[in-house]
Amino acid sequence: MSSQLLEKKVQDPKKQLAALLHEAQKSLQFEKLHIKGYEKVLKVTDKKVGLTAIIAIHNTLLGPALGGTRIRSYPNFDAALEDALRLAKGMTYKAAIAELGLGGGKSVIMADPKTEKTPELLMAFGAAVEKLGGLYICAEDMGCTTEDVKIIRKMTQYVVGLPHHNSSGDPGFFTAWGVFRGIQSIVKRLYMSDSLEGKKVAVQGLGNVGKILIDHLFWAGADLILTDIDAERLSACAKKYRAKMVAPDEIWKVECDVFAPCATGGIINDQTLPEFRCKAIAGCANNQLAQDHHANELKARGILYAPDFVINAGGLMNVAIEIEDEGYNPRIARYKAHHIYDTLLAIYDMADKNHESTQQAALSLADYRIKYAIGKRVIPPTFHHSAE
Ligand code: NAD
Repeated sequence: MSSQLLEKKVQDPKKQLAALLHEAQKSLQFEKLHIKGYEKVLKVTDKKVGLTAIIAIHNTLLGPALGGTRIRSYPNFDAALEDALRLAKGMTYKAAIAELGLGGGKSVIMADPKTEKTPELLMAFGAAVEKLGGLYICAEDMGCTTEDVKIIRKMTQYVVGLPHHNSSGDPGFFTAWGVFRGIQSIVKRLYMSDSLEGKKVAVQGLGNVGKILIDHLFWAGADLILTDIDAERLSACAKKYRAKMVAPDEIWKVECDVFAPCATGGIINDQTLPEFRCKAIAGCANNQLAQDHHANELKARGILYAPDFVINAGGLMNVAIEIEDEGYNPRIARYKAHHIYDTLLAIYDMADKNHESTQQAALSLADYRIKYAIGKRVIPPTFHHSAE
């Protein structure tokens, strides 16, 4: 072979990537964990790059499991597993309610996103996702940015939410719009009008979603009460909107119309419940209820709750559009997120009729859709983006 040909062969990027993938998959180890109620749970390790990850696939009756990849330094493996399992199950319900032809899954990488997240680690994880042949599709999540997803994409096509013209990018805008519509549904239910003029909304967490949400709320005329553990971010937002600031451990005690948790999960718990002085809770955080029974306690206290997996589905709706045949179209995602308002109003009605919590009503609706395969995927997903 001439040296020119040899050079061409070595530089062919597709072949280089295939060789890299082959190499990466050789050092991966998969351990199947048997978890009742879950279709497939895998512990994935790669000692060479220091990867320990969990890919949890809860249910694929309606379509392939789609869920973000969380990168976090968990205290131990069990804590990581618990997080992955809870989040994966939530994704099944979220996708079922939103009728996206998708199942539920989630992955976690046990690593500090600030100090341990390397391209090698992300690529090894991508190689593991590729090995599942499309059963699981990953996306950004806490600790994992759209730029990180771009690196994962080098090893697998089964990703969504890339900063790429054929992809949907950051889901935060769509999540925030869905939450805003959800807050309007709450106000409609409480006051017979969805106007937010003069309504007090206390927002916990001003990150990707929270900072966009408060902008929508501001322009709709709401009075904002804000908190964040990032003091600089908090004061910048409060200044921008002339909003009231409170300490992070005060926000759930604020007297308001709506408390919007937009930070971490578990905020509705034994300690916070007796301290709530809000009329309703509606925010983007995942797993807001520390335990399922807390939904009944909210109902008993007369606090209207917008189930998190319904109100925060805007981002999932957005990424789901990009795997349709026609490719990504933000206008379709916008309409889907817009209708979170109607879905929530129906859920409040169902809960009333059945004398149950809104959480239970939403779970029953999702179970019904899964049981009768309503919204099951017919056309297999198409991945329109490329690896560069
Ligand atoms: P983010 O990391 O960008 O923002 C979280 C914000 O909360 C940060 O500003 C952080 O400083 C603050 N925070 C953390 N702990 C806090 C506390 N105890 N008190 C007050 N502030 C605190 O995350 P995000 O993308 O905005 O997502 C927020 C929540 O919504 C997460 O639970 C996430 O899983 C969920 N969610 C996000 C999306 C999305 O599209 N990004 C979609 C669905 C659900």
